[in-house]
Amino acid sequence: MLTGSGDLDGLDSPAARERLLADLDAASPDTTYRLRDWLISRQRYWGTPIPVVHCGDCGPVLVPESELPIELPEYVQTTGNPLAESAAFVETTCPECGGPAERETDTMDTFVDSSWYFLRFLSPHRDDAPFDSERANDWLPVDVYVGGEEHAVLHLLYIRFFTRALADVGLLDVREPVRQLINQGTVLHSGEKMSKTKGNVVSPHEYGAETTRLFVLSAAHPEQDFEWTARSVSTAYDLQQQLFGMTQSFVERAAVRDERESHDEYVAREVDRTVAAVTDHYERFRFHRAVSEIRTLADLLGQYREYDTPNEQVYRRGLRVLARVVAPMAPFLGEEMWNLLRGDGPVTTTRWPEPESTVDRYDVERSLVETLRDDVREICDVAGIQDPARIEVVLAPDWKFEVREVVRDSDDTEAVVGTIMDDESMRAIGEPVQQYATTLQSERRELQPVLSPADELAVLRRAAWLLGDEFGAEVTVRQADDTGESATKADPGKPALYIE
Ligand SMILES: [Zn+2]
Repeated sequence: MLTGSGDLDGLDSPAARERLLADLDAASPDTTYRLRDWLISRQRYWGTPIPVVHCGDCGPVLVPESELPIELPEYVQTTGNPLAESAAFVETTCPECGGPAERETDTMDTFVDSSWYFLRFLSPHRDDAPFDSERANDWLPVDVYVGGEEHAVLHLLYIRFFTRALADVGLLDVREPVRQLINQGTVLHSGEKMSKTKGNVVSPHEYGAETTRLFVLSAAHPEQDFEWTARSVSTAYDLQQQLFGMTQSFVERAAVRDERESHDEYVAREVDRTVAAVTDHYERFRFHRAVSEIRTLADLLGQYREYDTPNEQVYRRGLRVLARVVAPMAPFLGEEMWNLLRGDGPVTTTRWPEPESTVDRYDVERSLVETLRDDVREICDVAGIQDPARIEVVLAPDWKFEVREVVRDSDDTEAVVGTIMDDESMRAIGEPVQQYATTLQSERRELQPVLSPADELAVLRRAAWLLGDEFGAEVTVRQADDTGESATKADPGKPALYIE
């Protein structure tokens, strides 16, 4: 039976639950934080001195502001309570009665400093105030706070408390110090959290700071825990070697070509797509996906260079983009690459790259090409074709794209098949249009976006070299006639394939 629960007094627990659920509309969200009393003193040397003097007559007395800050003695014993052993520090006079007194020998917990360091960092050279209020009001709130969960829960509460208290005493206009919180995950080793006490810590110098950082950032979304394995660290190392190696061999002995062909255009657009994707991933803290984009582009550039003498401009731009976008995670590597490529100034202060062509349909373009490659692999596999001599890619006729467009734009109640068949050119094709429109209508909610026929043709032609390279086959790309077998088999976004 419930007591001390207002209106619910006297009810048993299940009945109270029912009543609460029935009344849910009247509820409003409420978040309450309770900061417990917080013992801030420590018997350590490295904290901030507590400005209190103990006098036999007056008791504890605050050190006057004119005598602040109290500075720590330079040398102390490292055993016991270090400050208590330092007579020069301890012995003083009472600010009130002038009699002999002793300084407080506890110092403040480092959490006290970390509760407002972000304010001090804004004006580190001010010696007449803890921080510059005007600058602080200008800069705050902090955009993003990144911290491990255990640490962040308490620390974030402390800095919010400090900020509010400082606002209450008029030193700040801002009451909320941080805009966004990201709780980073924990690095695990053999399934356990890495910790000094467990002795399962991997130290950065074992692999080098650059590799360690790249690996940690590439392992998972920052908010997830991840397992430290030697194999995945070496993957990060290999990527660095790959990036550096390809840059070095390009500048040292590259045969290059000036004219641009369709496969050069494909690579040029992939460079643009990578710029767009990596930028987006960085902005959303998806570093692991940024790394994977970098790896994908590096692989593509490698394949491109093996396939044919690369176009100088396309290949160089690809490498410059790689140097620039890897730099936030691997600054030394980025700088080395940039230097080899004779970039101006340090790479980290160079303008972030921008796509040179329109990138809004890149995801559709890429998935078209990926699906095509998967389909060819699958057909070869199923049909037992070891070495295809010819691959013919046939894209759907224009009318299929049009029908698809009309169906996608229609709503459920519309008699869309009838509308389509009202069109004279569609009626001329007849039965196939009717059938296709009917099928599409039943699937209209699942229809994925596709490119225009002209764009699809252009993308497939630019990407044809990838199939040629992978399967060692001659690849042709064409569009189907309005009727016939290919017109039936090919769909927008999914061309028909003939492999022999
Ligand atoms: Zn006194």
